[in-house]
Amino acid sequence: MKMSCIGAGPAGLYLAILMKNRDPRHDVTVYEQNPEGVTHGWGVVFWDDLIHALQDNDPQTAREIVDQSFLWVDQIVDIKDQKPVRGTGGGYSMRRQRLLDILAKRARELGVTIRYDTEVDPATDLSDSDVVVASGGVGSRLRRQRASEFGTKVEQGRNKYVWLGTTRVFHAFEFAFVPTEAGWLWFHAYGFEHGMSTLIVECAPETWTKLGFDELGAEDSLARLEEIFAHHLRGHKLLAQTRDNRLPWLNFSQVTNERWHNKNVVLIGDAAHTAHFSIGSGTRLAIEDSIALARHLHEKPTIAAAFHAYETDRKLAISRTLKDARYSARWYENIGRYTHLAAPQFAIAMLGRRSPLVAMLPPRVYCQLDGLTRNVSVLKTMRRMAGDFYRRAPRSL
Ligand SMILES: Cc1cc2nc3c(=O)[nH]c(=O)nc-3n(C[C@H](O)[C@H](O)[C@H](O)COP(=O)(O)OP(=O)(O)OC[C@H]3O[C@@H](n4cnc5c(N)ncnc54)[C@H](O)[C@@H]3O)c2cc1C
Repeated sequence: MKMSCIGAGPAGLYLAILMKNRDPRHDVTVYEQNPEGVTHGWGVVFWDDLIHALQDNDPQTAREIVDQSFLWVDQIVDIKDQKPVRGTGGGYSMRRQRLLDILAKRARELGVTIRYDTEVDPATDLSDSDVVVASGGVGSRLRRQRASEFGTKVEQGRNKYVWLGTTRVFHAFEFAFVPTEAGWLWFHAYGFEHGMSTLIVECAPETWTKLGFDELGAEDSLARLEEIFAHHLRGHKLLAQTRDNRLPWLNFSQVTNERWHNKNVVLIGDAAHTAHFSIGSGTRLAIEDSIALARHLHEKPTIAAAFHAYETDRKLAISRTLKDARYSARWYENIGRYTHLAAPQFAIAMLGRRSPLVAMLPPRVYCQLDGLTRNVSVLKTMRRMAGDFYRRAPRSL
């Protein structure tokens, strides 16, 4: 099979790996508009579910990713000048570029051709490929060119966000919320390697304009953010990938497609669907898409049947995550409902933001309900443990 992947993100590269892994006779080329070693963004987080999927499909890649990951532990919610609330949990993180390097190295080992510095014009004749994979991410030009065939919808989120780095290493996943005279600003941050963390700042558009971010140059914007988050940065710097001396502020783009394939072109990863960054799942979804597509291309009798099965499977599989992501995005867009809460309640509402109940109920009622259900589940666990104990105990007891 001749396959061309347009975009060397996690989706395109991992698909290329799986195709060659399954059958070295495939002719697979991945095109990437950026030069080698250049990408957007800083570190990404992921959890065991991704590692298990990688282990099942290419143990060598899984091993490299686990070996080179940063481990973060616990979540901290820090609002205004109240005592931070610490919750349990943990996961992995890695510099996005490092992840791409691991995938590209493995793909080349298996015989994939990667052409960097090569932007594929969607008008290019790609009919000599049996399969053309639109793996160009959220802004995929190939998808945009065939938007009516795919039934593409792109909705812009309300808030402004910017993906930054910092030299302060956050060992926990930290959320910080700070009031300013122009409104609230917040970030979430996590370490991703020795000496580096991701720090994503978000705010309402009015706050953004009032603070002058629409006009300030990159250096002044970073200085203003460093001042606002001085307490959390502890003297460390913020770092940005700038363009034309501006910070890369964006609105989140929610991409959906009614159809994921058209003739020999198939959508994958962010080109097919996006999940709000506040739930850190886009990379996992992109890789799971690759796994499903590679499997169906090898199991189904025709490419058309494989595309159909892939689309059906994946639409179902991602629906829960996409719902979670929408509720989470909305929570941040309605943050004013929660900022009056004391830190422990605020943390409950924030950590529960994927549930529709948080938005439906008055915040205090939600928090009470959360406490009640926690107590009920603790009680249930205690009763189950007690039951187990009595069942196992000698009769004389
Ligand atoms: C702020 C932020 C934080 C995030 N944090 C996380 C996180 O913590 N965890 C997580 O799992 N996900 C996270 N994500 C989401 C994640 O980055 C994406 O979901 C994931 O990268 C999608 O992979 P992809 O391969 O589909 O696309 P991408 O990674 O976007 O790759 C697409 C590639 O295609 C190239 N390309 C595009 N058009 C062309 C063309 N015409 N010719 C050649 N090349 C082309 C691009 O240059 C790019 O390299 C985050 C996203 C954002 C915005």
